[in-house]
Amino acid sequence: MTLRFSNSYSALGGAFYQRVLPTPVADPKVLLWNRSLADSLKLSTTLQSDATLQAQIFSGNQLPAGTESLALAYSGHQFGHLNPQLGDGRAHLLGELLDKDNCRVDVQLKGSGPTPYSRQGDGRCALGPALREYIMSEAMYFLGVPTSRCLAVVATGESVYRDAVKPGAIVTRIAASHIRVGTFQYFAIRDDVKSLAALLDFSIERHFADIDLNADDKALQFLDAVMQRQITLIVEWMRVGFIHGVMNTDNTAISGETIDFGPCAMLGAYHPATVYSSIDTQGRYAFGNQANIAIWNLIRLAECLLPLINNEKKLAIAVIEPLLKDYSERFEQAYFAMMAAKLGISDVTVEIRSLIERLLKSMQTDALDYTQTFLDLGQTMAGANPLSENYNEWIAQWRSHLNDNSAALMQANNPIVIPRNHYVEAVLTACETTGSTEAINDFLEVLRSPYQELPNSHHYQDPAEDFDSSYQTFCGT
Ligand code: AMP
Ligand code: MG
Repeated sequence: MTLRFSNSYSALGGAFYQRVLPTPVADPKVLLWNRSLADSLKLSTTLQSDATLQAQIFSGNQLPAGTESLALAYSGHQFGHLNPQLGDGRAHLLGELLDKDNCRVDVQLKGSGPTPYSRQGDGRCALGPALREYIMSEAMYFLGVPTSRCLAVVATGESVYRDAVKPGAIVTRIAASHIRVGTFQYFAIRDDVKSLAALLDFSIERHFADIDLNADDKALQFLDAVMQRQITLIVEWMRVGFIHGVMNTDNTAISGETIDFGPCAMLGAYHPATVYSSIDTQGRYAFGNQANIAIWNLIRLAECLLPLINNEKKLAIAVIEPLLKDYSERFEQAYFAMMAAKLGISDVTVEIRSLIERLLKSMQTDALDYTQTFLDLGQTMAGANPLSENYNEWIAQWRSHLNDNSAALMQANNPIVIPRNHYVEAVLTACETTGSTEAINDFLEVLRSPYQELPNSHHYQDPAEDFDSSYQTFCGT
């Protein structure tokens, strides 16, 4: 037996999913295989060394005995509009594995064929977005940001039809789970309180083992814990300059991991209003609006939990409201602590907050590159002077707050290399035109060491020539 999945989600019952098999593909070939992730999942040496077997299993052509392939049901607010019926339209949950730390993770194929939730979609994924999800999630993981990861990208040998004919691929996603805010919405919309209660218990057991399942206020504790993870997540996104691009409630995982890498991108020149996604015309998911959207999504989750808190809606709201009101302050505390760390400072005072705000304002006015500016400040601390004279006064004030730990703190919080948009596009194009993954693997090597200079790191550090002012991403279908 090469692989044995368990499937605790299937025990939740038929309201939660549809049983459906992946649709086999013509000619599966492994393009990317995540060796270190495979190791951490304790995959057998037989599977690790057999690319043909990998291609068969992670295309869905061959399912290991005992696999219960599921497409999960969920709803979601997409750009603020409720869609009661979404669900995995092109993904199959093959099952769960226990990793080397005994954590349960989902193994899901994406692009593996239509399901009852496909609506107009073909159930498939183009090669570019599959590779992109692999690169971006791997980069985020090594940057230290909570994230799902990719085990493999398998080319299908078939075409998919988008704006043009594209090669197809299937990406295998490993995630702490695929429970979304939208999963709770699915049952709340249907007034299915029994399923909601079951989902709450399942989510607590899976992700928040500290919460007592017998506690009267477990739903409130759960909301609090999910809120904390969302705060941590968004703050971490902002530390590295990540813009998710499509923070719909169906793309918000209860686990607090980054999930559904569609039109995501990295911030170039600092401006909170930065948006790269072609469909986000209102800037709903702009870099600096992500904290606002996180609480918007959490309020949607809170609404779902009301019947589990008190039968009387008014009373339930009264219980939940103080927690939701706390969000802004909790977020700001975490955010300023993170920004201070980027500046080598560990105590956040009113003065430090003002220091941070003034720096960001100047960076915005001067359209300075977000990542590079913090590296420049590191250089400044070491005696160089890469920033313009306009910053001298600010730098003098900043210096007065530095101590012996500042250099180490800055180094740990300011990446040398991020998956800059133009390099991501370049390696994707190289793979799509030549069929070779060499450029991607070269890039990945550097991305796996983002805080440490490797011989190749400098090849991937330059901002785009136009500082990404004309960069656009498209939804990852
Ligand atoms: P996403 O924008 O990838 O988060 O997807 C939003 C919804 O559309 C989810 O329910 C997906 O399963 C579904 N979807 C996206 N692309 C496809 C596709 N090519 N075929 C079927 N369903 C899709
Ligand atoms: Mg999605």
